[in-house]
Amino acid sequence: MLTEQELIHYSRHIILPQIDEAGQEKIKQSKVLVVGMGGLGAPVAMYLAAAGVGHLYIADHDQVERSNLQRQIIHNLNSIGQNKVDSAQSTLKALNPWIQVTSIKQKLGDQELDDLLSKVDAVIDCCDNFKTRFAINRAAVKHQKPLVSGAAIRFEGQLAVFNYTDQSPCYQCLYQPDIQLDENCFDQGVLSPVVGTIGTLQATEALKIITAAGQVADGRLLIYDALNGDFRKIKVTKDANCAICGA
Ligand SMILES: [Zn+2]
Repeated sequence: MLTEQELIHYSRHIILPQIDEAGQEKIKQSKVLVVGMGGLGAPVAMYLAAAGVGHLYIADHDQVERSNLQRQIIHNLNSIGQNKVDSAQSTLKALNPWIQVTSIKQKLGDQELDDLLSKVDAVIDCCDNFKTRFAINRAAVKHQKPLVSGAAIRFEGQLAVFNYTDQSPCYQCLYQPDIQLDENCFDQGVLSPVVGTIGTLQATEALKIITAAGQVADGRLLIYDALNGDFRKIKVTKDANCAICGA
């Protein structure tokens, strides 16, 4: 149940008929894993904390560097040298002291992800490498949990929701594991607010999954072309022969 203070705090959600008090209670009871506290993870974690997600699990094994601050707005100058999850945790707690935040500092392999996915309602992929993306997908398919995937590089961003229903594609239906595994985001340029745009869309989809508001963006890939100010949609179907989710 929401306290009197929470009813005021979340009143702009509660007056939305698609959310209402019942939806806000669902948000309060929800548990969400955010993998990566970088450019995408920053707006995702901040919006989910501000929106009242009851238990956030945040994972990152890196420390904050000066060159992160151009886009990773959950951190600030005082965070340089700190673990990203510690810096993120203090920002999130300042935004919303009622939520629980669990920090995970180690690199996530199959075993850690298996354990985490058994605990949460959804996972938000905000990581910067394909190896982890495929591992998150394997764990999400195994535990039948929705995966909200985002990526941003240079002036382009992508958003997709996987594993939402039995009929939904998984990440590996779209991308094969032999994809250019060496193109990691850490050695590429990216325009600062592009990660904010995609991260904010990821947080929006996560809240829709939790509250069942609207139509979740599954079965399609949304591509944001920031240079031309344009969004495109590509249909993504489940691959019956997928090594991960196929029969
Ligand atoms: Zn698949």
